[in-house]
Amino acid sequence: MKTLSAIIETRGVVRDLQSRGRTVGFVPTMGALHAGHRSLIDAARDRSDAVVVSIFVNPTQFTQGEDLDRYPRPIETDLELCRHAGVDLVFLPTVETMCPQGATTEVRVAGLTAGLCGSHRPGHFEGVATVVAKLFNIVPANTAFFGEKDYQQLKTIERMVRDLDMPIEISPCPTVRESDGLAVSSRNAYLSPAHREQAASISRAMRSAGESHESGELNAGRLIAQMESEILDAGPADVDYISIVGAETLEDIETVDQPARICIAARIGGCRLIDNMPLGAPRAMR
Ligand code: AMP
Repeated sequence: MKTLSAIIETRGVVRDLQSRGRTVGFVPTMGALHAGHRSLIDAARDRSDAVVVSIFVNPTQFTQGEDLDRYPRPIETDLELCRHAGVDLVFLPTVETMCPQGATTEVRVAGLTAGLCGSHRPGHFEGVATVVAKLFNIVPANTAFFGEKDYQQLKTIERMVRDLDMPIEISPCPTVRESDGLAVSSRNAYLSPAHREQAASISRAMRSAGESHESGELNAGRLIAQMESEILDAGPADVDYISIVGAETLEDIETVDQPARICIAARIGGCRLIDNMPLGAPRAMR
C-alpha cells in the first residue's frame, strides 16, 4: 500500500492505473476509520480494480465552536485498517495542500444545502463540496463511494457531480449500525456509557415511525411528534431537527405518500449525532 501527500504524484498513480485499463474506486474520509468506512472500502474493492482512500480532516467544514481541534486523528490505526482492507493508495494531504493561502473559489450547491444540517452549520456544505471537488480533481477515480449515513452530504455531492458534469460516478452505501441500531460514527467515542445507551433512542424512534407509517400513518407532523417524544423519553437531548423530507428534494413534506427520508440531528451529552432512514410507500399504497 502506497501513502502519498503530493497532488501531482497522486494524480499520476491514478492515471497510470487507468491507462493500464484498471478502474479506480475512491473513498474520501476524515479518518478515525471504523466499520462504516470499512464498508465503503469493501464496496470500492468489490466494484473496482484498485482502491484509493483519502484521509483529511477538512477544517472548512467545521463551523465555529465545533470539534475540529479534538477530532480524533489515529493515523497509524487508520493506515493499518487500510492495509488490512486491501487499499492500494492512501492520499494524506496537508491542510496547506487542500486549503492553500489565497484560494478564493468555493463550490455551493444551492437548495439542497439550505435546510437540515445546512441551516444549523452555516458554511458546512460549502466546505464539504469545495474539498470534495478538489479531491475529485486530484484523485480522478471512476467511482467514489459515500455513506447514506450523511444523507444530505450524499445528495449534495450527487448534485454537484451532475450539475458540473464531473466525470465520476457516485455510489451510495448503506449505513452501518451497532447492534442496538446506533449509526457507527467517529463521534460516538465522545459518548459516556449512559449517553451511549441513550443515543440508541434515535434509531429506535426512526424504526417505530417507520412501523407507524407502514401501518398507514401518512401525516409527517404526527410521525415527527412520535419520534420526538420517544427520543426525549430516553433522556435529555437538544434536538436540532427531526424532519421528514422528500428523498431527492430534501424539502419538508406534510404527507408521506412519496419516497421520503426521516432526518434527525440531536445532541446527547454534548455530542451531535445525525441519522436518517428511508420511508417507502406504506403497505396500503403499494
Ligand atoms: P467521515 O470520515 O465521517 O467524513 O465519513 C467518510 C465517509 O464515510 C462518508 O461518505 C460517510 O457518509 C461514510 N460513513 C460514515 N459513517 C458511516 C456509517 N456508519 N455507515 C456507512 N458509511 C458511513
